[in-house]
Amino acid sequence: MSATVTQIREASRQSVRQTRPHPAAVPELPLTELSGWGHYPVVHGHERLSEDLEQSTESAALSRGLGRSYGDSSLPASAQDVVSTSVLADRLIAFDPATGIVRAEAGFPLWRLNRLFLLRGWFTPVTPGTHYVTLGGMVASDVHGKSHHVDGCFGEHVTALKLRVADGQIIECAEAHEPELFRATLGGMGLTGHILEVEFRLRRIPSPWIWQESERTADFDATIERLRQAGRRFPMTVCWADFLTRGPGAGRGVITSGRWAEPAEAPAAPPRFHSPIALPPVFPSWFLQSWMVQLFNRLYHAKHGARVRTGIVSPETFFYPLDVVREWNRVYGERGLTQYQAVLPTDDPARQRRFLDLLQSHRAPVFLCVIKDCGPQGKGMLSFPKPGVSYALDLPVSRETQALVDALNEFVVAEGGRIYLTKDAFTRAEHFRAMEPRLDTFHAVRRKWDPEGRLRSAQSVRLLGGRP
Ligand SMILES: Cc1cc2nc3c(=O)[nH]c(=O)nc-3n(C[C@H](O)[C@H](O)[C@H](O)COP(=O)(O)OP(=O)(O)OC[C@H]3O[C@@H](n4cnc5c(N)ncnc54)[C@H](O)[C@@H]3O)c2cc1C
Repeated sequence: MSATVTQIREASRQSVRQTRPHPAAVPELPLTELSGWGHYPVVHGHERLSEDLEQSTESAALSRGLGRSYGDSSLPASAQDVVSTSVLADRLIAFDPATGIVRAEAGFPLWRLNRLFLLRGWFTPVTPGTHYVTLGGMVASDVHGKSHHVDGCFGEHVTALKLRVADGQIIECAEAHEPELFRATLGGMGLTGHILEVEFRLRRIPSPWIWQESERTADFDATIERLRQAGRRFPMTVCWADFLTRGPGAGRGVITSGRWAEPAEAPAAPPRFHSPIALPPVFPSWFLQSWMVQLFNRLYHAKHGARVRTGIVSPETFFYPLDVVREWNRVYGERGLTQYQAVLPTDDPARQRRFLDLLQSHRAPVFLCVIKDCGPQGKGMLSFPKPGVSYALDLPVSRETQALVDALNEFVVAEGGRIYLTKDAFTRAEHFRAMEPRLDTFHAVRRKWDPEGRLRSAQSVRLLGGRP
């Protein structure tokens, strides 16, 4: 790829690189406490940070980005393991304005990509619900967004990857070169190799603003039906739903849909980028209670009003509403939270209602529920989405969580669904195997590139076996 935009590359350099120490140079890495976004589980391991990923991934058992996966997928399997954290390797390498193809180091964060390219008329075709993720993390989770029913996962737009595989070799892989390794790495949770560089295609956007429509629904059946209808009219849709309320209002929601605004509709001024609001550092575990969330849900639903609302909003408001508050996960206190995300096929309409009934019969403390309509399964060998409805449920961790996740997983297995590894901390190996027919193919690729099982995470040992 030839043409590079020098100003963009320069703007992407951060002064932090000069001022931070270089821990990779420290011969003995200290034992560090590590956790994902859910703060559950918390484990010990050696974390190596370096701006030189080729150096820091040598002998590392796993790579990690900004730790926005909820559970144990970015955590070491043993306190002896070294995890290479990519965040200092954050250089933009090249950009070709003729094709939109961009190449960057794996630690390059999405928030910076957005700031660099949005006002230049480009945006990533797929974004998750937070921009505090790295490109390496987006590939390893093969993230999906509000446009999954139209654009598929991030991996559909990745053109090449530079990987360090378990035996130390550095390999460039793509659809045309080592396609199996390439596809197994999309959604492969870091188990096929350390991603050093990511190349993917940005999309031209007509303006840096979003044209948004939102409506509220009175009950669960209306939520599911209206979400599907919105998906036929809009390239981006999502639904917030109230799963704590019981009775006729259970599953009522607010559906938000959008598309990039045309220049004639958009304000002349560019959207502003905001810094997140900080929360106090410590929250006790009892702080967030069901009654508080129930009250919030009621007010949020009522505040929307009965009429359909339309208007122009900024991409930050539309794509990243949770990023407004920095480290909002701390309101769950020391107990932490887990997110249970599962997709359920839509061939049997009653299945969705059975899922809600199951949650309510267990009195599941669902503090946040986000529902999405998923499109066809992508090429990532273990990617999460497939045609159906995806439910992402935030649950405070408690003594009951394991039993609840077991019950939900039994349901998901019986109904032909599957869970999202990036969010998971509680699934049992037998449930995962039963819901994942692609597992043998993934195992075969993993064995070919890593016969000794050197690359591993706390999650891979829990779900796929291997040395603890
Ligand atoms: C508020 C919030 C909203 C979210 N919304 C969505 C959503 O809408 N859709 C969605 O799909 N996800 C969503 N997520 C999940 C998030 O997008 C993924 O967990 C993403 O992978 C996190 O990126 P990260 O850089 O923090 O990776 P980490 O959490 O650090 O790591 C995630 C996985 O990637 C692997 N990995 C990271 N870097 C590398 C590398 N360089 N090489 C090899 N493997 C690597 C890790 O081993 C781990 O398995 C959300 C998360 C949060 C907190």
